[in-house]
Formats: sequence, C-alpha cells, structure tokens
Amino acid sequence: MTKPFKKIAVVGTGTLGAQIAMLASNADYSVTIFDRQAGAFDAIMEKLHADLKTKQVEPFIPFNRWPACRRQIKQYEKLDEAVKDADLVIEAVPENLELKCEVFRQLGQLTSPEAILATNSSSIPISRIESATKRAEQCLNLHFYFPALGTTMVDVMGGTRTAAATFEAGKAWVRSIGCLPLTVKKEILGFCFNRVWRAIKRETLYMWAEGFVDFRDIDRAWMIFTGMPHGPFGMMDNVGLDVVHNIETVYYNESKDPKDHPPEALKAMVDRNELGRKTGKGFYTYPNPEYEKPDFTK
Ligand code: NAD
Repeated sequence: MTKPFKKIAVVGTGTLGAQIAMLASNADYSVTIFDRQAGAFDAIMEKLHADLKTKQVEPFIPFNRWPACRRQIKQYEKLDEAVKDADLVIEAVPENLELKCEVFRQLGQLTSPEAILATNSSSIPISRIESATKRAEQCLNLHFYFPALGTTMVDVMGGTRTAAATFEAGKAWVRSIGCLPLTVKKEILGFCFNRVWRAIKRETLYMWAEGFVDFRDIDRAWMIFTGMPHGPFGMMDNVGLDVVHNIETVYYNESKDPKDHPPEALKAMVDRNELGRKTGKGFYTYPNPEYEKPDFTK
C-alpha cells in the first residue's frame, strides 16, 4: 500500500483522536500528538482498554499491538512542536465551531505550507472552518466512526474549495491505515452513514412516540431482517439517549422542519436520567437487556 504521507499529527487526543493516532501508528506512520490537557492520551487509552475488556470486545488493533503502537506515538506539550513537520494534521478537539476555527488558524501558521489539514468533526462541514487558514484547498473533513470497535470506515468530504489532490490524498491515506473511505461528493450534514442511521432513528422514534408500534417489535423486526444483535432502540441505548437527543436537535436546527424535531417523549427520558446503558435504564434495562435473551425474536 503506497503511503501518501510520512508524518501525521493529531491535535486533541480524547476518545476519537487517540484512536486515530493509534490507527496511524499501527500503519507505521510517524505520529505526533498534542492535547491541551497533559496526559489525555494515556488516560483515554487506559479507559478504552478497560471498556473493551469489560465488554469482551476484541478491538480492530489487537491488544497485543497496543504497547508497540503507543511507544511509536510522540507526545508534545506544545502544539507547534507536534505539528511543525507533519504532512497531515487531524484535528479532533471538542465539537465547537469557534474552538475548531481557532485550532485551524494556529495550524495554518504553524505547519508547513504543503501540509493538509483535516477535521474529525461529526457535524461541522469544513467549509465553515477552512477560512481560518489561508489554504482552503488543503482542508477537508475526515470523519472517523469508532475504529476501536471495528467501525473502520471514514467519511471523506471536501469543502467549497478543497483541491482534488487533497481529496484523493485523504482517501489514499484512509486506505493506507486499513479503513474504507466513504466518498461524500457534496457537503451534507451527517456525511454518508450517519445520515442513513439518522433516517432510521427519525422514523423509528416517530413510530414509537406516536404510539404506532411498540419499540420492541421494531427492534425484533430489525434484528430478524438484518441479523444484527440489537435493533435501533437497543443501538440508541448504547449510544446514549442524551447524545441521540443532541444530535437530533442539530439536524432540527439545520432544517427547522417540525418533522425533524426529536420527540418530547425522548426528551422526557433524558430528563429522567434514563440515558440507556450508561445509567442502567433507557428503552431497556441494563445489564442483561431483553433483546439479548434468546427468545426475544421468537
Ligand atoms: P473528547 O472530549 O473525548 O476529546 C477532545 C480532546 O480535545 C480532549 O482530550 C481535550 O483535552 C482536547 N482539547 C480541547 N481543546 C483543545 C485544544 N485547543 N488543543 C488541543 N486539544 C484540545 O472528544 P471526542 O469525542 O474525541 O470528539 C472529538 C471530535 O471528534 C469532535 O469533533 C466530535 O464531533 C468528533 N467525533 C467524535 C466521535 C465519538 O464517538 N466520540 C465520533 C466521531 C467524531
């Protein structure tokens, strides 16, 4: 596999940034990282390790490779030192437009003029960030899902001025780290798969909230049809109902279409702290939710 870059820098190594750094290291790239909070990378790696072990999930990068991958990643306490030699910088700081613009402004000044700058944002298109730099042609969205769980697909989306060469280099890099690039040809909120998942959420939440079908039957139908171990409601419980509500609100705020407004019944669950697996109650109760019982689909 040809490598379009030599040196990768990741800025912001929380949940997603740490995993992106690991993927790059696993593919033998030279990786440098910077996080505003000292020790963020190590802390999240320990947490991720414990979470995956508890859930008995074998991660995309096998556990026995983790120490070698981690050793190869160079952590810096200053942003300029981490990014100055990078060919590709991936920003994964929290989902806040002003913060991302500020990071991109700094990256535009601190990186080499050839460097490509990508954001891992879940909802902000690069066209709203690129002007913070003087190189919009070299900016793009590279949106990772949750690679540690094996969700090794990455949305690749350009902005209003992204050069074709930047886009192709982004895709080639994604392939070189063992992930599948999903080509998003025009800017759209939700990229490729989040948009599909979002359509399923909107419809199934509507069917449940308006009392048309019991959520368990929707999940049963989905599980039988797709062979998946849970349905949309089980999935939303695992994501967290507060997160689901926030994301649905982002879509509503963009369209202002009443049909996009998340149901009040979902908001009521969030207010009652019924957030899904993390609080022990959502649509189902945890641990041992009903959909994991063998007779659920019988
Ligand atoms: P997180 O809160 O886990 O991590 C963010 C990290 O950025 C923290 O470690 C924080 O200390 C650091 N940070 C904050 N300001 C900084 C700055 N100015 N410079 C350097 N570091 C800074 O967040 P996350 O869940 O990893 O999300 C990061 C980005 O990835 C967001 O844009 C989010 O939308 C996107 N994303 C998240 C997920 C997910 O499942 N968590 C999935 C896809 C995309």
